[in-house]
Amino acid sequence: MTQTKADVPPSNTSDGVGCHGGKDEMRRAAAAAGKSETLDRYAADYPVGPHDQPQSMCPAFGSLRVGLRMRRTATVLSGSACCVYGLSFTSHFYGAKRSVGYVPFNSESLVTGKLFEDIRDAVYQLADPEKYDTVVVTNLCVPTASGVPLQILPPEINGVRIIGIDVPGFGVPTHAEAKDVLAGAMLRYARQEASQGPVQAPRAGRSERPTVTLLGEMFPVDPVGIGMLLEPLGLAAGPTVPTREWRELYGALDCAVVAAIHPFYTASVREFHAAGRKVIGSAPVGVDGTAAWLDSIAEACGISAALVGAAKDRFLPLIKATLAKSPIKGRITLSGYEGSELIVARLLIEAGADLRYVGTACPRTPWSDPDRQWLEAHGVRIQYRASLQQDIAAVEEFKPDLAIGTTPVVQHAKQLAIPALYFTNLISARPLMGVAGAASLAQVVNAAMANKSRFDAFRDFFEGVGEGDTAGVWEDVPEDHPEFREQVRRQMARAAAKRKAEEMG
Ligand code: SF4
Repeated sequence: MTQTKADVPPSNTSDGVGCHGGKDEMRRAAAAAGKSETLDRYAADYPVGPHDQPQSMCPAFGSLRVGLRMRRTATVLSGSACCVYGLSFTSHFYGAKRSVGYVPFNSESLVTGKLFEDIRDAVYQLADPEKYDTVVVTNLCVPTASGVPLQILPPEINGVRIIGIDVPGFGVPTHAEAKDVLAGAMLRYARQEASQGPVQAPRAGRSERPTVTLLGEMFPVDPVGIGMLLEPLGLAAGPTVPTREWRELYGALDCAVVAAIHPFYTASVREFHAAGRKVIGSAPVGVDGTAAWLDSIAEACGISAALVGAAKDRFLPLIKATLAKSPIKGRITLSGYEGSELIVARLLIEAGADLRYVGTACPRTPWSDPDRQWLEAHGVRIQYRASLQQDIAAVEEFKPDLAIGTTPVVQHAKQLAIPALYFTNLISARPLMGVAGAASLAQVVNAAMANKSRFDAFRDFFEGVGEGDTAGVWEDVPEDHPEFREQVRRQMARAAAKRKAEEMG
């Protein structure tokens, strides 16, 4: 029998659910549809609270971007058209040069299982070993809630690996952690391949020295700088995970130690642990951070104190001198959702900034604990899983000379005539590690703080033009009509009561 949309339970339609509401309903539906194990794993890997989800972009953007940046990788989304449109738009806005595959559905194909058949057909059509190493299929909110079983796709077709992941907004809190969902799934697959026999060597051949795998996307200069720091220890920088190519995954697993530069890759760490690798936290930022990080690497790899001492003698004075040459003077609040907020905060403080608050959308994990301890010892308040309201409250409380944050935080600060910088584009997309990192933040931060007088002039110029719903160009001064709001509120309450009565009747 053909089911119509009216026959479909509300949890199985895309109407009125998703990132704007209905999350609990979606969770219940997903659990009932056989996705409990996946959701339980996400709940353990990506703990939420005090807020259940920071306000941020669709989480699936993180995993989508990881796939789109890999060579010979096809990416297919399965989700509501509006979600796929938004994700495709954003990924191309951020420079993706690849197509995003899409398997559309309607209520009927969703509930009858035809969507899964369509996805499988699409995967068979795409799996051309001449073009691809891997096809990644991602279930967004609605197909996850409906239990579309990507886990039973064939693991390999014509030698092309097939990876199916669920990345629902009601299960994966941030786009940062969604990167981990895909990176972890790929590492797991590659680990199983490596355990079964020989695998492809890295493109440039195996390093002669033991390597340190770097966990977390960073500015391209950073792995080079880290490699220089490691050289006196007899080590080399290995691949960066998420990788840009499938064969790098084997190299990443084949390391002496993993450096979790970004601290939220819980599923990836699980795979490294399963491969018998040690994982260390924090990052070589500033003088203290670099010294502590070199100690951790040396301890994990059994390297002598003499070699570590030589590396410190070579680099720490350079980092110190570079920081001293371009000091940062002023009070700063910082918030973001990239996961690198704590290490950026350390660097700012070492450069002289009076940093009071760090808000991060990511959770507290063991790999950022050294940074947390260092920052707390320097009097910084840290907010994990920070909400927009907390970030804004920090700006209002500390009245900084510069607010570094997400777009709405920056907008709020600028309305208060406080210079502000967008964390993702202007701060996290810079070198942060070692000597290069010590030089990179001062210029942009000091230039922004020096703009204070321009913000004051702007504010004075626009003083009295109205704000909120009275902003803009008007022939008369707009009048507030609170009675209209009250009327609409009453109408909505009546409509909700009527709906409820109809449901019960
Ligand atoms: S897939 Fe993303 S955009 Fe779509 S409903 Fe879920 S969280 Fe929102």
